[in-house]
Amino acid sequence: KNNLFYRDTWVDIDLTQIEQNIISIKNTLPKGKEIFAVVKANGYGHGAVEVAESAIRSGVGGLAVAFIDEALVLRNGGITHPILVLGASRPQDVPLAQKNKLTLTVFRQDWLVEAEGWLDSSIPVKVHVKIDTGMARLGVRTMEEFLAMTDWIESHKGIELDGVFTHFAKADEDDQSFMLEQRDKFVQYVEALPKKPKYIHHSNSGATIKIPDDPTNMVRVGIAMYGLLPSEEMKNEMPAGVAESFSLHSRLIHVKKVEAGEPVSYGSTYHTKEAAWIGTIPIGYADGWLRRLQGADVLVGGVRCEIVGRICMDQCMILLPTEYPLGTQVTLVGKQGTEQISMGEVAAKSETIQYEIPCIISSRVPRRYF
Ligand code: PLP
Repeated sequence: KNNLFYRDTWVDIDLTQIEQNIISIKNTLPKGKEIFAVVKANGYGHGAVEVAESAIRSGVGGLAVAFIDEALVLRNGGITHPILVLGASRPQDVPLAQKNKLTLTVFRQDWLVEAEGWLDSSIPVKVHVKIDTGMARLGVRTMEEFLAMTDWIESHKGIELDGVFTHFAKADEDDQSFMLEQRDKFVQYVEALPKKPKYIHHSNSGATIKIPDDPTNMVRVGIAMYGLLPSEEMKNEMPAGVAESFSLHSRLIHVKKVEAGEPVSYGSTYHTKEAAWIGTIPIGYADGWLRRLQGADVLVGGVRCEIVGRICMDQCMILLPTEYPLGTQVTLVGKQGTEQISMGEVAAKSETIQYEIPCIISSRVPRRYF
């Protein structure tokens, strides 16, 4: 599983922590409510198959991804649990979904009509109908179309209604009013159904934590399973025991004394204030360590050091408090001793949300699993 690699930059994924996170979240839910682990975007950059295996060990009922391609990666990786494709799939790919037992999201009546020609009634394709209650992204927006779709599905042998769902726009905010408005709209749709499907679900991580008792029977948990926050507003709301599982490391590949006033990196945007030890680490913006992280801290020998000068494509420079030997470990996200660079700190420095950081650490950076 831990492939050989020949560079001094890598990500460590603590799968035991992910399993612990899922169990901690599960313990907050009423009995019988299933978790589908959201492993789209290569498991938010943590590794889709590895995270899926951990999630299954922790007792999730299924996995969710954005695209058929991602579902096939899981199937090819040996995952046999139910997989819900949350995004749009093409009608002509229905046979592929049937062959691989994938559950598709549908949200337009004309899609069903187009898919009819592709349906194989010997292995019905499972679908979840998505309702748009306030995202204006994917989903049916009228009761009329919703009921027309569920009727259509009911009357066709090659297709089976396995679920209905919606997605919240503001589940990560202190003010729950819009989330509850969306929830109430969703409930109206569900109540109008003559026959309830197996799965009724609306919660992402934020809503799973905020409204655990809601009478739905499945939750779609992504970010919290990785130990990350949906938003900074939620930092005091995470279930006990949930912690980060992704850490990013490199090593000093060059260390040198630079005189006072000398420039560092492209554009000479930084000059040493005094004679200084400058270290080079082999990670840059092509690895997803973006240029805006110039000035961010990293950990060396358990102390914080600043990234100085522009971040290059494959490398960047750090200001060391003293000379360190070549090969010394540098932690860009994670802990060294009592110090920690959290994902929240990197996200804040990047002016973005925690989701984005592990997603953009590119496939060039090998992932090691524990
Ligand atoms: N459900 C849908 C439809 C999503 O798009 C996502 C991710 O954005 C999730 C669930 C998981 O959300 P989160 O990572 O906030 O738990």
